[in-house]
Amino acid sequence: MSLPFTIWVIAGLLCGLFAIVAVVRAFRRSKQHVRCRACGHLLSGLSPEQTQCPECGGLFTQYPKVMPGQLYVDIRWAKIAVVVLVIEVVGFLLPGVVLLVYQLWSP
Ligand SMILES: [Zn+2]
Repeated sequence: MSLPFTIWVIAGLLCGLFAIVAVVRAFRRSKQHVRCRACGHLLSGLSPEQTQCPECGGLFTQYPKVMPGQLYVDIRWAKIAVVVLVIEVVGFLLPGVVLLVYQLWSP
């Protein structure tokens, strides 16, 4: 195995590992607190009449509050997960499959 290939394989594994971390962090459960669905900001102590998030301005009619125990998507980590997954598939998985098929079929 050549050095550039070894570096490429290690980079692919690290990228894959980071993709898993990003996907796990994107899906979160609010343990004991009420949170903003749009940005994840803690809404404890907020007046019930308040109709939008003080952090991001998201309207609660558009983004219903995340209640304790509910699962929600952390938008920032979800965006990171999408970017890293695209890099992993396009940069490492597809070339890896092409390389494997090429090696198996070449004499
Ligand atoms: Zn918010």
